Amino acid sequence: MPPNPSCVPLTATTAGRDETAEPIHLGLVGVGKIARDQHLPAIASNQSFCLVAAASRHGSVAEVANFEDLERMIGGTPNLAAVALCAPPNVRAAMAREAIAAKLHVILEKPPGMTVSEVTDLTARVRQHGTTLFASWHSREAAGVQHARDWLSTRAVTSVRIRWLEDVREWHPGQEWIWQAGGFGVFDAGINALSILTHILPEPLVMTAAQLSFPANRDTPMCAELTLTHGDNAVVEASFSFCHSGVPCWDIDVQTTSGLLCLMGGGSRLTIDDNVVAVPPSTEYPNLYRRFAALIHSGQSDVDDSPLRLVADAFLCGRRTEVEPFLF
Ligand code: NAP
Repeated sequence: MPPNPSCVPLTATTAGRDETAEPIHLGLVGVGKIARDQHLPAIASNQSFCLVAAASRHGSVAEVANFEDLERMIGGTPNLAAVALCAPPNVRAAMAREAIAAKLHVILEKPPGMTVSEVTDLTARVRQHGTTLFASWHSREAAGVQHARDWLSTRAVTSVRIRWLEDVREWHPGQEWIWQAGGFGVFDAGINALSILTHILPEPLVMTAAQLSFPANRDTPMCAELTLTHGDNAVVEASFSFCHSGVPCWDIDVQTTSGLLCLMGGGSRLTIDDNVVAVPPSTEYPNLYRRFAALIHSGQSDVDDSPLRLVADAFLCGRRTEVEPFLF
């Protein structure tokens, strides 16, 4: 299929050149759930980007050039300037290395890599090649998060309780990769809570203990109980579960010496001392693409791996329990 005819060809493809006048030609890699649910609508609504290509082994996107993989996409799309990598984390870093070597700007879905060292390596590569790398954390863009961060910035936190509980069969139907080494298991969801926490709390977090439940037939955990500290005095307790039926719970309660802040619904709703704080509807992915465009135009990268380091720490210190095999 020919590239989208509404896109004007780009003449500049690397950071430091003027890309403000024309849309950035973007390719999307990994046409799965999040690509369809969020990336495609967000890209379509952002005039800074023009989707010109997609690469996926099984999926495709209408009205753009479709390729089997990133290598063919790069070879077959002359004016490609940026890629959105929406494949699972255990294959994403190799894609990112390939894209950076081709001098493309890259937006990574969360988590930014399978390991911390992969992300460090990518950061060094973008410096070398002069392109933009944006490790996106969509949950940080949820409507209540910025207000929570502002409110907490002047308060003393005494304790935090996180419950991030969902049914893996409903939210990750048939996604085998999530159960394979490097697929994160319940941390695929739980890292969203950690991305919010690392953003709204004023001081660094330290992982002190973890209990991880692994299904006997899987490489990644189904449930996790974490204990962290924040600053000198606050204890953070987190429960992550993939075997919670019914309405999911994605809540963070932060007790301070001057009030209780509750972020609910993945950060989309906020109360302070039980009073509802009015926040606009969440526009997580549109915000991410606005930020990606701004980073490209200013020749900058944004790579915060602090949520990923906490997950790595949980694996490092976690006690392992084997539970019943999991089958979809
Ligand atoms: P998904 O539905 O399984 O889609 C991932 C796509 O990546 C697949 O459709 C697949 O397309 C492609 N892919 C390339 N190499 C692959 C490989 N070796 N194994 C499996 N797939 C491969 O997953 P998803 O839910 O979109 O999640 C992708 C990423 O987005 C994850 O990092 C996840 O944390 C993040 N995310 C997901 C959600 C959500 O609600 N699902 C929300 C926020 C963020 P082809 O087979 O056609 O190549």
